[in-house]
Amino acid sequence: QAKITGRNRYHFFDADLDEQVRTHHNRRTEVWNAVRANELVLYYQPKLDMRKGRIIGMEALLRWEHPLRGTISPGDFLPIVEHSDVIVDIGEWVLREALRQLQSWRAFDPAWVISVNIAARHFQRHDFVERLKTILGEFPDVPPHMLELEILESSALSDIAHVRSIMLDCQALGISFALDDFGTGYSSMSYLKRLPADMLKIDQSFVRNMLVDRDDLHLVSAVIGLARSFGLGVIAEGVETIEHGAMLMRLGCDLAQGYGIARPMPADDVLSWVASFDTAAVWQAAAVLPPI
Ligand code: C2E
Ligand code: MG
Ligand code: MG
Ligand code: MG
Repeated sequence: QAKITGRNRYHFFDADLDEQVRTHHNRRTEVWNAVRANELVLYYQPKLDMRKGRIIGMEALLRWEHPLRGTISPGDFLPIVEHSDVIVDIGEWVLREALRQLQSWRAFDPAWVISVNIAARHFQRHDFVERLKTILGEFPDVPPHMLELEILESSALSDIAHVRSIMLDCQALGISFALDDFGTGYSSMSYLKRLPADMLKIDQSFVRNMLVDRDDLHLVSAVIGLARSFGLGVIAEGVETIEHGAMLMRLGCDLAQGYGIARPMPADDVLSWVASFDTAAVWQAAAVLPPI
């Protein structure tokens, strides 16, 4: 009796697994079709120098405009393809689209930098640098130093020596690197020592609670201190209020991104948003508040 139950259970499990594999395969195909059907779009979130009251650039953030389900966030579809080469096709599409967009914004402000998130699998391909050179060559009006790549510290970055050499090759072209969500992984310190980053991005989970949670405040302050001692830039993400911005400036971090400045928006809204952003004055006023 027990044996039969066991075997039945095994069969059930087997069917389940088969179903899971099939569903995963279907979902991956669905994402791949979305690329080909031009259903992917980029939204842009401004990066602000709070002290100068200046927009310094935009981060490109992927969205899937699904014909039936509406706008889908990257966290809901990138994980489906991050272990397949679909992530490479998507990544190259994002690079081209972001550079094309920056090229058209250069008439408005030639100092803007475009930041693009790159998946570990894409980044670690043997031909990453060659293909990136080809893509940059398609946009002769965009100097490579206007491109910043954001990489996540993750177990997917397994071969640090290899990652380091790719970063150095890109930097030789003028491209810079930010370590995204800095401080959330297990190996932040070792990455800091072994990877030639240009910028640390303080994770929004620390920033969000830093005004009410002293531990988070200490973490934010420590990351700013690390950036300073290593001679790197530092930017905070998840800046939702002017109070967050004021505290960051007091701690020595002038660059910020967050809903308190602007939510990610379609490319067509960017220039009119910038024109209406005279609240920059508010951020500058916060900068001169006396320390608490
Ligand atoms: P990320 O690069 O760390 O981007 C920050 C995320 O936080 C974005 O979510 C952004 O919309 C959101 N955010 C910005 N400010 C605030 C704020 O003040 N409060 C809160 N609660 N959230 C804020 P999004 O666009 O859903 O992207 C999620 C993640 O997906 C990104 O995290 C990035 O890791 C990944 N991603 C986005 N676009 C791409 C892409 O083109 N390629 C790759 N490989 N990954 C991407
Ligand atoms: Mg990012
Ligand atoms: Mg981040
Ligand atoms: Mg993130």
